[in-house]
Amino acid sequence: MYIKSTPEKELTMKELEHCLQASQPSVAGLAPCMEKFPIIREMQKEKEVVWINPGLTEFRADVENCGLTIKDIEDAEQRLLRFAPFIMKCFPETGPQNGLIESELEFIPSMGRTLNQKYGDILQGGLLLKKDSHLAIAGSVKARGGIYEVLKHTESLALAHGLLKEGESYEKLASEEMRKFFSRYTIQVGSTGNLGMSIGIMSAAIGYQVIVHMSSDAKKWKKDLLRSHHVQVLEYETDYVEAVKKGRELSDQNPESYFVDDENSKDLFLGYSVAAKRLQRQIDRLGIRVDDAHPLFVYIPCGIGGAPGGISFGLKQIYKDNVHCFFVEPTQAPCMMLGMVTGLNDGISVQDIGLSGLTQADGLAVPRPSSFVGKVMRPLLSGAFTVQDEHLYEYMKMLMNTEKIFLEPSACAGFQGAAFLGQKEETLRYLRERHLADKMENAAHIVWATGGSMVPEDVRSEYLNH
Ligand SMILES: *Cc1c(COP(=O)(O)O)cnc(C)c1O
Repeated sequence: MYIKSTPEKELTMKELEHCLQASQPSVAGLAPCMEKFPIIREMQKEKEVVWINPGLTEFRADVENCGLTIKDIEDAEQRLLRFAPFIMKCFPETGPQNGLIESELEFIPSMGRTLNQKYGDILQGGLLLKKDSHLAIAGSVKARGGIYEVLKHTESLALAHGLLKEGESYEKLASEEMRKFFSRYTIQVGSTGNLGMSIGIMSAAIGYQVIVHMSSDAKKWKKDLLRSHHVQVLEYETDYVEAVKKGRELSDQNPESYFVDDENSKDLFLGYSVAAKRLQRQIDRLGIRVDDAHPLFVYIPCGIGGAPGGISFGLKQIYKDNVHCFFVEPTQAPCMMLGMVTGLNDGISVQDIGLSGLTQADGLAVPRPSSFVGKVMRPLLSGAFTVQDEHLYEYMKMLMNTEKIFLEPSACAGFQGAAFLGQKEETLRYLRERHLADKMENAAHIVWATGGSMVPEDVRSEYLNH
């Protein structure tokens, strides 16, 4: 059923690296690469593009995925269960879910009809929204990865200092005495906003000193909110990569400081991947079938790649060839697409092809992808889309008008996938080649909504009046 994958072009990694080095700082030197990968020319023009991953293969559980397996996802899931009593104690709003931080999956038929009216019956099957925009504590998808990594670090510290014994309830960690212990330690992170919020709020609740290094993209209200939680916010005039670099340097100088490294962290990735196990239960509960005759399509906004990568990695372990994962990035910051198209992963930045990396989609404003997500996703990702900022606002308003759900602009990127799958030449070919075209009536499409519930009222109206 699967097309045997062949490397996209014969250009070797050495040649590519060579022409990248030769090109700096001038973009013109990249010309030979552009010929090898014509899509890069389109990306340079800030066009909305579709990329089908030629590296996608039939799913094999035993493939070497940077050492990650389903066992690691299960381990992460168990860790979150151990922490549930603690989370419930610190954040009573998680009580109804027994201390699990989980969002709803719901049908959005009215949005589906409106997309079909606008684009001409392009969407067949059911359209659903996964509302990570409404996750407790941080109001974004970062409540999965960011919080998981802080908890994992906390568990290690507590175990190493004999503060937790086998079988004891983690609720104990919420005591004043424990807070005092954790206040000797510092957590630091670089962020465009949402990662800082999730790590800042959780770390402060545990008792840590917290420093968040914010890039220039970060919105003011996110910094204000963090400061209200006694988080130290350092602001940089530079982009995300620079903010991370500064944060890492500062953290390295302090032996009691732990740096959450979004560019390389496998813990963040695994925290995100737990979403897949939880989603499976929700899909079953809604009576949605996923099998050979019922394909599942998932569209996830992508920044550095950890969140969409972790979620997709988890979903592929569960649904294998019956799930089709697509990432969506801003036309100004398509770092994962660029890294995967060229095979250079974090060896290339969007600035290398002359893009600014500047976008209203602050959660996705990342110029260079994670160092390992591209490699893990090589055989698993179906493809990727880019979306213009203006289009994000359009989806945002459309969702508000049809379903009365508010998302921040970054979080609307997934709709580009749902809207484009059934109308673009590349994706239509993908469906034909995989014998999916005649099964689309039975398909389910999940748009992953990644943030928005904590956006203050005045900023919301500003967005909606854009
Ligand atoms: C961070 C973020 C993403 C993407 O996550 P990455 O791990 O950076 O790829 C998507 N949407 C929103 C709202 C985010 O904050």
